[in-house]
Amino acid sequence: MLCKHETALNPVPPHAQGCEECLKSGTPWVHLRYCLYCGHIGCCDSSPGRHATKHFRTTGDPVAASFEPGEQWAWCYAEQEMVDVPDQFIPYLRS
Ligand SMILES: [Zn+2]
Ligand SMILES: [Zn+2]
Ligand SMILES: [Zn+2]
Repeated sequence: MLCKHETALNPVPPHAQGCEECLKSGTPWVHLRYCLYCGHIGCCDSSPGRHATKHFRTTGDPVAASFEPGEQWAWCYAEQEMVDVPDQFIPYLRS
């Protein structure tokens, strides 16, 4: 299921292969999230930096997909629910 925040999104390629903020500070991360609105790569809430959630709080970009190899799901921060990844983003996920 796609949520209302995912309709008519144009894919933005991922900015990086790791969390952008953690790469700058040298902090380790656990899992990666890919912002479907701007291509930001941030780390999950199990990571010390929690940069994907911080990205949502600062930008309001509501949907981020898992950027883990082989995973194909996204999280809507606005609705706090798991949603599908729109077809046009699937080529950018890590296989
Ligand atoms: Zn939504
Ligand atoms: Zn974003
Ligand atoms: Zn991070």
